[in-house]
Amino acid sequence: MNIEIQSLIKTYNQRQVLNIKSLSLEKGKIYGIIGPNGAGKSTMLRIIAGLEEAKKGTILYNKKHLNGEIIKNLTYLNQKPYLLRTSVFNNIAYPLKLRKYKKETLKKKVIEIVKEFNIFDLRHQPATNLSGGEAQKVALARALIFEPELLLLDEPTANIDPNSLELIEKKIIKRNREKNTTIIIITHNIGQAKRLCDEIIFIREGEIVEYGKTN
Ligand code: ADP
Ligand code: ADP
Repeated sequence: MNIEIQSLIKTYNQRQVLNIKSLSLEKGKIYGIIGPNGAGKSTMLRIIAGLEEAKKGTILYNKKHLNGEIIKNLTYLNQKPYLLRTSVFNNIAYPLKLRKYKKETLKKKVIEIVKEFNIFDLRHQPATNLSGGEAQKVALARALIFEPELLLLDEPTANIDPNSLELIEKKIIKRNREKNTTIIIITHNIGQAKRLCDEIIFIREGEIVEYGKTN
């Protein structure tokens, strides 16, 4: 998915927290957003996700304004994953259930992805019993089980141990390469941004202060 942002301004209680003059994101690339706490990274991602409204400005998705049709094609993963109060299996199956997948197909896909993410043994656990890192893996599996054109990830590996980190980075890259998915990822980990991203967007006090390739 292509994204064109023009003159985007966001305020909270009349305080301006975001001012993006112009930003253009190409289909099939992985973008990193880096910046200090409070810079406006999460706000920007939530606005792109359509979860919050900007005060001014436009965002075009594949040259169109956001509408219900397009929002189906993006997946947003919050920094603190909101898991449903049900089993790991049901959590991951949920996006497919919403889209009325047949029971057998749904089951096959969920089993496939829990194996890929090394969380097969957790599938019957209630999601409320998981550690932070396990919950993040479940949330990412749920985000990837459906194949969105645009994947928005807010610090997807913040609580993750090094082994799982490598696995998750591989999954993100694999998805990008195989499905040409456009991915925007907020991270505090410069190494991760370099490993994953084609372009890095540095944000400070709501503005893009640097934009560039990683190599
Ligand atoms: P980052 O993700 O870079 O840490 P945020 O986008 O979360 O930054 O926040 C940017 C600024 O907006 C911060 O000063 C934050 O306190 C403020 N902010 C974020 N969300 C809200 C909100 N819902 N209401 C008021 N202020 C908010
Ligand atoms: P992040 O680390 O991504 O910036 P936070 O932990 O700051 O996230 O924010 C989590 C939630 O709290 C978000 O929904 C954000 O909108 C809200 N929030 C953040 N800052 C403020 C604020 N100053 N006033 C009200 N809500 C806020």
